[in-house]
Amino acid sequence: MKITFCGAAGEVTGSQHLIECGSLRVLLDCGLFQGRRGETRAKNSHFHHNPAELDFVILSHAHIDHCGNLPSLYAKGFRGPVYCTDPTADIADIMLRDSVNIQAEDARYLNKKRDPNEPRVEPLYGEREVHGIVKQFDPVHMGEWIQPHKEVRFRFSEAGHIIGSAITELEFQEAGETRRLVFTGDLGRRDLPLLHDPALVNGCDILITESTYGNRVHAPASDLKAELARIVREAVKSGGKVIIPAFSLGRTQQVVYFLNELVNAKEIPRVPVFVDSPLSNRLTDVFRRHADLFDADVQATLLTDADAFGFHGLTYVTSQSESMGLNRHRGPVVIIAASGMCESGRVLHHLKHAVEDPANTIVMIGFQAEHTLGRRLVERLPRLRILDREYELRAKVETLNGLSGHADIHDFKWWFDHMAQTTGIGQAFLVHGEPTSAAALSAVLKDYCDEPPIIAEPFKTYEV
Ligand SMILES: [Zn+2]
Repeated sequence: MKITFCGAAGEVTGSQHLIECGSLRVLLDCGLFQGRRGETRAKNSHFHHNPAELDFVILSHAHIDHCGNLPSLYAKGFRGPVYCTDPTADIADIMLRDSVNIQAEDARYLNKKRDPNEPRVEPLYGEREVHGIVKQFDPVHMGEWIQPHKEVRFRFSEAGHIIGSAITELEFQEAGETRRLVFTGDLGRRDLPLLHDPALVNGCDILITESTYGNRVHAPASDLKAELARIVREAVKSGGKVIIPAFSLGRTQQVVYFLNELVNAKEIPRVPVFVDSPLSNRLTDVFRRHADLFDADVQATLLTDADAFGFHGLTYVTSQSESMGLNRHRGPVVIIAASGMCESGRVLHHLKHAVEDPANTIVMIGFQAEHTLGRRLVERLPRLRILDREYELRAKVETLNGLSGHADIHDFKWWFDHMAQTTGIGQAFLVHGEPTSAAALSAVLKDYCDEPPIIAEPFKTYEV
């Protein structure tokens, strides 16, 4: 068997791994590389294999760094099935259609910077390619073994990372032997709001594991709910606005769910809450459709509250004019809007109108990458550039952690322990991590494996 790491090797975006076993060619994920537009453009438009020769694709979950380059795969001739869970199919459909606009925007940006004599940059893909690949989605149930070819079968188990996210167990027949390969996708955490814990799966010959937070210990998510309650109570007292920049997929629904719980328990006073993001609103509908997949806490809530993502006082805003109207809102209000790192989206307009008033609070949740407005807010830089001009930061900034969707070192140990106690781990490969976290996780993982773990190198083919 040969494995080639075509992305998310030594970095955290562009997840894409090629498995070749006999005549079979299977691709695990096909994500977008993200980062500087010029560089990622080249990486995303070229494949290190012939997409037309792939038998099928396994899609672990619907984050864009795992599914976002599937339309390019279709454009280059792939016509096989894309196996994923039901919610992943629904969410990836929405995310890819949204990505069409982002690709068009990126092409416009690159063309503006180009010499007019140079050839125009076309968007990476458009609606035709998204429509084409979405038709290839073949949703399967968690836990059900699927046999697409006589030499391979696979099944999905709960990864606990976002709704629909899956760990994949694949069993290949090679020279009369069964070879078991487990791919974590993005491995979630225990006790995250909404989601089930990651499933424990038995050992394997080959493990491909993510390593994003292989060197971290996370704060518990329950602390964040209490902090959120305190911030809302204080804002209501001071009459200020609370602005919460949040990613449309996952983070927004977690925050709304916490607020719903706090309202039900009467732990926060009545205050108008707005979710101002058309994408979040479409995604929240998918969450509602798949409510049966959530954890026991959500099921308990649903016994007395039919909508875990709605409460009296909460409004989902879609139109531009309603969104702009929020800027004139007086008195205490909570506004949740994308994007989570304040790089784009409607949250920028709300920040413009909020940062200069000390009565207001900006709530930053989770990791903020370098060079983003989110990072500058967390660092409390006194002056901030937002869209067209500079503003003075006089609002309070609260930074909350505890909602990361990736396993920390304790979660990894718990998960590897089970593998070691069953059939053990043969050869492990570490992907989806910056070099320092991959190295830290490798040092831990080696005690569980027969062979020293390998930190995957980009585009290198390994014979196993
Ligand atoms: Zn993910």
